[in-house]
Amino acid sequence: MSASSCGRAAASRCTLRGDEGVGARHALPVTMNLDTLRGACKPCVGGVFCARKNSLRLTPRLPQREIIAGLYLSDPEPAMLQQRSSRRRFSAKHSATSAFRELAAGLAEAGRAFYARGWVLGTSGNFSAIVAREPLRLAITSSGVDKGALTATQFLEIDENLNILRGSGAPSAEALLHLALVRARGAGAVLHTHSVWSTILSESFAGHGGLAISGYEMLKGLAGVATHKHREWLPILENSQDMPELARQLEAILQRYPGSHGFLLRGHGLYTWGENLSETRRHVEILEFLLEVVGRTCGSARGHAAAV
Ligand SMILES: [Zn+2]
Repeated sequence: MSASSCGRAAASRCTLRGDEGVGARHALPVTMNLDTLRGACKPCVGGVFCARKNSLRLTPRLPQREIIAGLYLSDPEPAMLQQRSSRRRFSAKHSATSAFRELAAGLAEAGRAFYARGWVLGTSGNFSAIVAREPLRLAITSSGVDKGALTATQFLEIDENLNILRGSGAPSAEALLHLALVRARGAGAVLHTHSVWSTILSESFAGHGGLAISGYEMLKGLAGVATHKHREWLPILENSQDMPELARQLEAILQRYPGSHGFLLRGHGLYTWGENLSETRRHVEILEFLLEVVGRTCGSARGHAAAV
């Protein structure tokens, strides 16, 4: 039976009307399938079902979107499925693009601020943030860019194998260290500076394997730290240009010191990370402050001892 032949006799068997009278307005159920639609009478559907075209010729009785929504959700045509799939792909791609742009803009702004503080002069330092975890996508600084004029366009999107998915240039040489921190610590962002104090202290304390900082109120700016009595241990790794080897050493250090919020590369600089970009940026500010305090304290103690 076709809906177009639905007359008085067929009206009692209308699959949509139920107990309501002929001509009552029905909202189309989302579970409706084409068989139900075929059995519905014209007044209920608000249109005529065409078996040849397998579609409805609509009357103004019901809004077209209601009819389409009913068909779309219950018995999607291949073309509709394709449209839905391409809409989802477009939407996922669009949200990944906007997430990348937003992170790149935030990282660039942090980089310029760090430059202004003297922590990433010239092309030193590198910054990254997680765009997606499954599969892993990282926004990271392109190699060799001036941090004082850093822009969002100077970031790349890479995967866990350092393949470039977005942007031009090469990823920072230290990208392997960023990836190691993402894997080992679940970091949402990783920031690396080449400040004067991290360079001096990583050299001075290299023989101790690390630097302990305790007793300062500013320690409470580190995630999970609630008291100035906290003892922050910053391990120090020997500097190297062999990044795969350095990444392996870093993984071992991170396992050995699970409570550390950062580490130093000898004669090189500071790495820290956090749950997201804002927490990581705060960690840079806190650790750079503490390193400067320790450095100035050590310097004044030496000066005092020399004067005595
Ligand atoms: Zn570096």
